Order: sequence, then C-alpha cells, then structure tokens
Amino acid sequence: AIQIRDLHKSFGSNKVLKGIDFHVDNGEVVCVIGPSGSGKSTLLRCVNRLEEPDSGQILVEGVDIIDPETDLDAVRSRIGMVFQQFNLFPHMNVLRNLTVAQQKVKGRSKKEAVEVARANLEKVGLSGRENVYPAHLSGGQQQRVAIARALSMDPDMMLFDEPTSALDPELVGDVLEVMKTLAGEGMTMMVVTHEMGFAREVGDKLVFMDGGVIVEEGDPREVLANPQQERTQAFLSKVL
Ligand code: ATP
Ligand code: MG
Repeated sequence: AIQIRDLHKSFGSNKVLKGIDFHVDNGEVVCVIGPSGSGKSTLLRCVNRLEEPDSGQILVEGVDIIDPETDLDAVRSRIGMVFQQFNLFPHMNVLRNLTVAQQKVKGRSKKEAVEVARANLEKVGLSGRENVYPAHLSGGQQQRVAIARALSMDPDMMLFDEPTSALDPELVGDVLEVMKTLAGEGMTMMVVTHEMGFAREVGDKLVFMDGGVIVEEGDPREVLANPQQERTQAFLSKVL
C-alpha cells in the first residue's frame, strides 16, 4: 500500500504539488486524471523517487521512501514504472531489456533472469520476440515489452504514466488488456490516463487533479457520471 501525506514539490517558484494526500491499498487500481500541467507526472515521479519531494511523506508498506537513508535501487525495484515513451534500451534486444536489471539490481543469475523474462513476455503476449530489437516492434509491442520489463523485477506495485498516449489508436487496446489482466491478478496500480473507459471499468478509485491539488476523488463510475466539483465537471465535459 502507498500512503501519501501532505506532499509538496516545486520547481523554482513553480509550485507543482501543493499538499497531496491520498492512499492506494494493496490490490487497488487508482486512476489519476487532470489537465496538462496539473502535476500528475510529478506525483508519480515522486512516488518512484525520480523527483525529490520538498516535504511530506510517502509511505510504501509503512516505510517512508523520502527518508534520505532509503535505498533508491530497492525502492525502484519494488515499484515498477511505465512511461508514455516506452524507454526501452534501443541497443539491446527484447530479452536483454528484460534481464539486465534483474541481474544487476536483483542479483539473479542469467539463467534465472531469462526464465523470469520469458514468463513475463508470455504474459504480455510477446513470446518468441526475445531476439528482436525495439525499433522493429510496433509502439504497442514496445509498451508491452516495457510492462514485461517492469514486471520482471517482481514489483509490489506498478505506476503507469499515460501508457497509451503515444500509441496509434488501434494499438491501445492490447496494452489496456494487459493492464486489465494485471489488475485482475491483484497488482496494486497507479495509472495516469486519458482512457476514461479503462478508469470506469478497471479503476477502484478515480482521482482528479488540477493545479497541484486533488480536487475530487471517489468511485470512478460515480465521479464520471456525477462529478461534484465545478472544475471536475468542466474538465470532464471537455474529455468525455
Ligand atoms: P501532462 O498531462 O501534460 O503530462 P502533468 O499533469 O503530468 O501534465 P507535470 O508534468 O507533472 O504535469 O508538470 C506539472 C508542472 O511542473 C508543469 O508546469 C511543468 O512545466 C513543471 N515541471 C515538470 N517537471 C519539471 C522539471 N523537471 N523541471 C521544471 N519544471 C517541471
Ligand atoms: Mg504528465
């Protein structure tokens, strides 16, 4: 579970997160929506410590990951992250993309890393693509490799930052299907997305952010059908 308490983050004089409080229970899927610049990516990046928060607490299974004593490699191997731009290593084939961090960070043998990688490639529907380089895969396939790579670290939770926004429309469905399967298996997930259908169908909670604060949160079906706050209504009327 993740517990976020009074999280603040500025870039220079730009206050991007202005006191974020919320929690994600184990096995829960929380979808985060909001306009461009509202701080969604910054929030996810703080949870993974890709950004240094200014103040507040982020407790992962009760351990404060903002503590300077915290081992960042350990945090990141427990929290998988998938980005809009797939961020695969272009000079490595698919198998190597999935094994390199397992060996370096988790200390697995090559044989064990390959076994884990193959199982996760099967999970995302890409068995048989082990020797291909990322440039020779479609965007949707690259994104599924990125998911398989994150899963190969055995994360306790997964963060997704607009995982389908860079994809051609016909490739979105396969990626969402993989995410839905993961959710069904009980993976704890935070998903920044514009896919309201996914939020409605798969999300346990929907969080609407604007201007660095959480404006509204609740059951996705409730929030989407009957938003309580004016800012939520205005945003949804533009995207639905
Ligand atoms: P989008 O929907 O466009 O992805 P977002 O909600 O993810 O937007 P963020 O990327 O978190 O928004 O950005 C929030 C604000 O923080 C923006 O004003 C952005 O310019 C600023 N910002 C983000 N990262 C940095 C950075 N590394 N340095 C300086 N400013 C940053
Ligand atoms: Mg963003």
